[in-house]
Amino acid sequence: MTENRYDLMILGSGPAGTTAALYGQRLGLQTVVFGDIPGGNAYMIESLDNFPGFPGGIPGTQFGVYTFQQAQNEGAVCTMTRLDRLTYADKRFQGIDSNGVEYSAPSAVVATGRVPMRLAVANADMKGVHFCSLCDGPLYRGQNATLAVVGSDNAAGQHALTIARIADQVLLVCRSKHLAMDAVHQNLIEMQANIRVLLNTEVLRYEGLDFVEGLVVQSQGEGEKIIAVDGVFLAIGWRPNTKMLDLPVELTPDGYIKADEKLKTSHPGLFAAGDVRDTDMWQVLTACADGARAAKYAAEYLEQMNK
Ligand SMILES: Cc1cc2nc3c(=O)[nH]c(=O)nc-3n(C[C@H](O)[C@H](O)[C@H](O)COP(=O)(O)OP(=O)(O)OC[C@H]3O[C@@H](n4cnc5c(N)ncnc54)[C@H](O)[C@@H]3O)c2cc1C
Repeated sequence: MTENRYDLMILGSGPAGTTAALYGQRLGLQTVVFGDIPGGNAYMIESLDNFPGFPGGIPGTQFGVYTFQQAQNEGAVCTMTRLDRLTYADKRFQGIDSNGVEYSAPSAVVATGRVPMRLAVANADMKGVHFCSLCDGPLYRGQNATLAVVGSDNAAGQHALTIARIADQVLLVCRSKHLAMDAVHQNLIEMQANIRVLLNTEVLRYEGLDFVEGLVVQSQGEGEKIIAVDGVFLAIGWRPNTKMLDLPVELTPDGYIKADEKLKTSHPGLFAAGDVRDTDMWQVLTACADGARAAKYAAEYLEQMNK
């Protein structure tokens, strides 16, 4: 029997998880939140400009800390640990965190987001391969660096714009024929003189011993060639964080958690919110909205359960 008994367990401390905690507490549920990064992936957003209410934008780090604090102010318990395993028995979810501490609750929200993918190459983990331009871009300040961004979506666009302030030259390497980012990002990229876009170009592997010194690329209809770079930032896709789920729940072929319009998953009492579910918008706003709805329907579920 575990001692840490709650009404609602929330996996993930990003926008979806912290909003679920805020709403859960305000609906009278005792909630516990797992996650070691207050604000989750929002910390990678230099300026969050598309969340209503902040006409001048707000740094993602600050937004993340605010939502985290707001959940705590409502009484949510934030462990600052990750949940290693979630199981289900006798109508309760059982969780073990990274310190080996056990928790249980009759309902749970999975809001664990997703992580960026690495290139499928032998030397994928080389030094100089990065995923967060805000965090690692400053490493290249004052070095007259040439940096590459691999990808074509909004995240790739943001990486390119962020490091364009630090590097002499930025190469935006896209496998596709077109950039897949919105018009705002495309316009900003076009206006930035030191960003060069290489379309139809695939990265085959990294060059270098310990540290990336170049990219071996192949453009359509051409042979392989090496582009010298000092570092590379990847935005080539995502993998949802579901490894901790040790219970039967339906996933999409890509591994996202299937949830209905009430954020209910195929498992009783289990809800999914934000980037980890089969959503069509991977945004802070939609993650927050999911979190609020997941908490509301978790509260409804518990009410039915206790009737
Ligand atoms: C470079 C970049 C720029 C972006 N720009 C914008 C933008 O301008 N506007 C916008 O709206 N969105 C933007 N986004 C997207 C936005 O950050 C995400 O959509 C949003 O953070 C999703 O929130 P979430 O709570 O679902 O997941 P996340 O923010 O990913 O949070 C999930 C958290 O769960 C944690 N976690 C994972 N596994 C476990 C576990 N086992 N136990 C406990 N915790 C766990 C993760 O570490 C993470 O902290 C950007 C993303 C990136 C990468």
